[in-house]
Amino acid sequence: MPGARSSVPGAAAAVPVEIPAAVAVPVEITARPGGGRAGRSRPPRHLADLSPADRRTAAEELGHRGFRADQLSRHYFGRLTDDPGEMTDLPAPVRVGLARALLPRLLTAERELTCDQGMTRKTLWSGFDGAYVESVLMRYPERVTMCVSSQAGCGMGCPFCATGQAGLTRNLSAAEIVAQVVSGARALAKGEVPGGPGRISNIVFMGMGEPLANYANVLAAVRRMTDQVPGGLGISQRAVTVSTVGMVPAIGRLAAEQLSVRLAVSLHAPDDDLRDELVPVNRRWKVAEVLAAAWKYAAATGRRVSIEYAMIRDVNDQAWRAEALADLLSGHLAHVNLIPLNPTPGSRWTASDPQVAREFEHRLAARGIPVTVRDTRGTQIEGACGQLAAGPRPAAGSAARPASPPVLGRAG
Ligand code: SAH
Ligand code: SF4
Repeated sequence: MPGARSSVPGAAAAVPVEIPAAVAVPVEITARPGGGRAGRSRPPRHLADLSPADRRTAAEELGHRGFRADQLSRHYFGRLTDDPGEMTDLPAPVRVGLARALLPRLLTAERELTCDQGMTRKTLWSGFDGAYVESVLMRYPERVTMCVSSQAGCGMGCPFCATGQAGLTRNLSAAEIVAQVVSGARALAKGEVPGGPGRISNIVFMGMGEPLANYANVLAAVRRMTDQVPGGLGISQRAVTVSTVGMVPAIGRLAAEQLSVRLAVSLHAPDDDLRDELVPVNRRWKVAEVLAAAWKYAAATGRRVSIEYAMIRDVNDQAWRAEALADLLSGHLAHVNLIPLNPTPGSRWTASDPQVAREFEHRLAARGIPVTVRDTRGTQIEGACGQLAAGPRPAAGSAARPASPPVLGRAG
């Protein structure tokens, strides 16, 4: 999960990286039918799947006046409610009919886990078909960041990532993605998160899934998050980060959308030999292509691209790789986020030695590359980067337990 402080833990001997020989490189991912409860393969249609104009059309098709859709939208995006009982400005039969048709329950909270004195809160959700996803809310002194999932599982197969281990179950709909944010926003507005009532200020697509493999739904979700009420939640586009494993054509497509969302690229290695193994999609799109797409994105949006780099002991943390990374990034609109690896259960890898990581960081900084070290918020509740592997498994922490001390400081 996001957040950064500016120092960290690194020198290393090369250790061969073992990767399953046949990791398929998923180029195009399409939704796979879910469990098919009631024969359905897609989540039910929801207000948040639709543009404001389509919502009006949908209301009319249901026999209501078009402006009722705006009223309903104000309740959902503005007042964060989907309870018809609270919609007293709508005649009772209208509100019940509209809510039933356009505000179906999409996600059910199965479990809530907290740490950092309640300031970090992970929710395990189940979808209409029983698919599991997770979201994480992180409250910092100056902002609240919501980390959302874009897919149930992920098909990209990065061997160090818990989400990647189980493969892809299905794409989330736009409304399922938005629902994670609405839920966090509601909890904050009601004062359920310690620190008093608040609002979501930042969103990162760093939960489960590869957002750019679910392009249309992610884009619609971004619009719902960032359009002003009643169109959407009114969160600043600049405060939204879309993190990608490096799907080059989709990065180009996103650059053409005229948004000002931040792009994060999960690089993890400056050289194709190692990146082919750590990030199997690199066999399809090489480091040079990924970075060329990133620089085009930066040019189109004026936004600095965030380069994500999980620090893996003796695998990608050598001084020469820091220098090679600096060579690639020097002179470009980039910022490096070093993430201490969160080892997944049974992983043969571990986080870099702190000194080695610090050396890596200093080498980048010495070359003029902006660099921060991601905090490890949520580690205790398996809610940190790469730890999301939703399922009804017993978890490391629980809301019922006494609050544990904060893991680390602030974020960036
Ligand atoms: N699929 C997207 C976004 C979700 S992953 C992507 O890969 O960018 C969010 C971030 O967590 C990515 O930078 C990813 O590389 C990183 N990550 C995955 N597993 C990790 C782990 N075990 N430790 C630290 N970071 C990890
Ligand atoms: Fe998917 Fe991102 Fe995990 Fe890779 S790191 S398996 S792309 S979620």
